[in-house]
Amino acid sequence: MNNTVYLVGAGPGDPDLLTRKAYRVLETADAVVYDRLVSQEIVDIVPAGGSRIFVGKASGNHTLPQEEINELLVKLSRTNRRVVRLKGGDPYVFGRGSEEAMHLARNNVPFEIIPGITAAAGISSATGIPLTHRGMATGVRYVTGHGKGDAELDLNWNSLADPATTLVIYMGLGKLQELSDRLIEAGLPADTPAAAVANGTTPNQRQCISTLEQLPNAVMEFDFVPPVLCLIGEVVSLAHDLNWQGLKYEDFGLARQDIKVSA
Ligand code: SAH
Repeated sequence: MNNTVYLVGAGPGDPDLLTRKAYRVLETADAVVYDRLVSQEIVDIVPAGGSRIFVGKASGNHTLPQEEINELLVKLSRTNRRVVRLKGGDPYVFGRGSEEAMHLARNNVPFEIIPGITAAAGISSATGIPLTHRGMATGVRYVTGHGKGDAELDLNWNSLADPATTLVIYMGLGKLQELSDRLIEAGLPADTPAAAVANGTTPNQRQCISTLEQLPNAVMEFDFVPPVLCLIGEVVSLAHDLNWQGLKYEDFGLARQDIKVSA
């Protein structure tokens, strides 16, 4: 008989953004399997006797291949009463949570999903960039900017280039130039406000606000390293008015006076 595996969302970084349900499960976990994006404070909720297994997953550099993670969960469920699979953000948003859940289901391992605050929601609050706003954005799309090596991104640019929709790009740092070029080619105005946020909701958060055309350059000047989330759309222009955290947005240089950034 297998024990239950809990697929748990750890939220975007700030440990206080964990749900109570996730906290309760972690407090009594016998084994936790976690990714790079999960903050240490959350892993530390696991009791001292529990095993903590790091499975890495930096973009393009998986410490443990997905199939082995799947198998590991099944194996752990045989010998541990409560196994927690802890993922950054929400397990079902670009987290491969559903692949792991399918593997558990196929192997008759009972599982539960505990949602987490996805990076888009956490960073939206932390930066004062609402994902929707009446008159500006009637919808929001979460898109992956992850592409293998030099291969071009396989996205439907015409459908993405909609000025009335906010685009949130996960894993897009490496392909930001391509994203910007293709969206402009497909008709999204080059001066559409756009932001990149590194390490959102953590003390190391850095944000850069620019335009769709200029964002790739702006981000390079800031030496951003993942995790970085990009937000594109008119709603980004509200960041200055809704800046409840007092983030500093400074002019980004004389040549580009319209660009506001903050270190
Ligand atoms: N399941 C996660 C997403 C995993 S994909 C979620 O729901 O948030 C990993 C990508 O998420 C990163 O490349 C980045 O684009 C985004 N991301 C996650 N945490 C982030 C953070 N604290 N700051 C900026 N981007 C983040």
